[in-house]
Amino acid sequence: MVIPKLDHFIDGALVAPGSGKYMAVENPATGEVIAQVACGTEQDVDLAVAAAQRALDNPVWRDMTPRDRSALLNRFIGVIQQNAHELAYLEVISSGGTISRIANIDLLLMVESIMSMADLIKTYPFTQSLPAKPLPELTDVKVVKEPIGVCALIPAWNLPMLLFINKLVPALAAGNTVVVKPSELTPQTTLRLAQLLAPLLPPGVLNVVNGIGPVVGEALTLHRGIGKISFTGSTLVGKRIQTNAAASLKHVTLELGGKGAAIVTADADLNAVAQGALFGVLLNSGQACESGTRLLVHESIHEPLLAKLAEVAGRLQIGDPLDPRTSIGPMCHAAHGEKVLGYIRSALEQGARLVCGGERIIVPGCEGGFFIAPTILADCHNQMNAVREEIFGPVLTVIKYRDEAEAIAIANDSDYGLSAGIWTGDVLAAQLLARRLQAGSVWINDWHMLRTDVPFGGYKQSGQGREMGIAGLESFLETKAISTAFQRDPAKKTMTYGVVHKSA
Ligand code: NAD
Repeated sequence: MVIPKLDHFIDGALVAPGSGKYMAVENPATGEVIAQVACGTEQDVDLAVAAAQRALDNPVWRDMTPRDRSALLNRFIGVIQQNAHELAYLEVISSGGTISRIANIDLLLMVESIMSMADLIKTYPFTQSLPAKPLPELTDVKVVKEPIGVCALIPAWNLPMLLFINKLVPALAAGNTVVVKPSELTPQTTLRLAQLLAPLLPPGVLNVVNGIGPVVGEALTLHRGIGKISFTGSTLVGKRIQTNAAASLKHVTLELGGKGAAIVTADADLNAVAQGALFGVLLNSGQACESGTRLLVHESIHEPLLAKLAEVAGRLQIGDPLDPRTSIGPMCHAAHGEKVLGYIRSALEQGARLVCGGERIIVPGCEGGFFIAPTILADCHNQMNAVREEIFGPVLTVIKYRDEAEAIAIANDSDYGLSAGIWTGDVLAAQLLARRLQAGSVWINDWHMLRTDVPFGGYKQSGQGREMGIAGLESFLETKAISTAFQRDPAKKTMTYGVVHKSA
């Protein structure tokens, strides 16, 4: 098998790294090396930023109307659809996500994300005239929304294509140019999409620099030619990015970790909860920031719900992510799998009860992958590391509560605030309860209810700013007020000029 070399994509062309160095990219399901990706340097970042800055000044891009940008974005859809099979395959072999999720959810959300942003910018008020005010004198004021400039997009490895598109589309819709740094673990689909989409764009509008976070990511977040960082990843790295960005006061959007709490009320339908809560925690084998990882269950239904959860979890197929029957694929790499098992061990040491799972599974044909059985831990409490920290694996921690006040207190006792949820028979009472939960998204009787026109982001240490919809577009825009004076005669500007010019 020929191992492909993945270079940078700068100014409309593939560019080899200045260092001449490459590193291996592995298939998480098998451990096989499937590509060699460029090890970018600060000099490579300089080249990409310079190309992106030139593209900002290219009249073809700079003067393109929102209507034309909308039409251009819509053309992305055809490209994605025509290449859907290749993109889905590359995404599975590089990220370990299951083909059924990527084909049924990710690709559709990508198309939907483009469609809704293309629609939005057809009517979004990029220019607004304000009514004249009589004092201090009549002026005409226009408020215009302009691109920030060159934006750095830094996504995580867990949903590489979807995260990339969710950043790229609003950035371009707002008229910016971008430099993308894919995760070094999953660069394939970002590079491939850049190559496929770039012919629709002037050169330099979309650039990709591959490499590791501490080199390429750092260079981007410190670069004075960059006006905005849009980052998805861990809270630890998010804090570092905010510190770096502060040196030149860049705009920053941070989509970080989560520890989603779901409250199950006494009147909830146990069958529905068992299916829904496991969907909430097991999608992408638990490697999703918005997962519902803490299930807070009313004491009256605690034991019957545990039995249902174990029964449903036992039916799920762990296996090759390329097999459409597979529900649970591999951890992204072995070290991450060991970390997940470490959290399970620590919870058991701290008094948790193992309801099911808790172990590594060897999958025939995928012996080099690190698979973990869906794991349910009961008798958990908020002092356990497995309950406080993000595990990012197929692990549900179950906590018993007595009354609503206690459930709210447990749910909110977290550094994170990305997602929360309520499983209940009383959706009216749930509306009030939802207002008490400290999270950017609250889902009632479902999970992962992501809509491309609905703002998504975190409270507390789960992030800053919002992606998707109007909030997502506006996070890539600057605001300018252009004021024009009507009064041309200085002698008549008594309230303003008169303060300085004290003529007789
Ligand atoms: P990570 O923070 O290790 O890496 C994310 C990206 O940042 C990668 O591209 C990495 O190369 C880069 N990076 C690393 N160090 C950097 C630095 N010093 N400067 C700039 N960039 C740097 O996260 P990960 O392991 O790739 O992803 C998992 C994390 O992402 C989890 O915490 C998960 O919750 C979070 N996540 C959040 C969302 C969300 O929308 N809130 C979505 C997906 C994942």
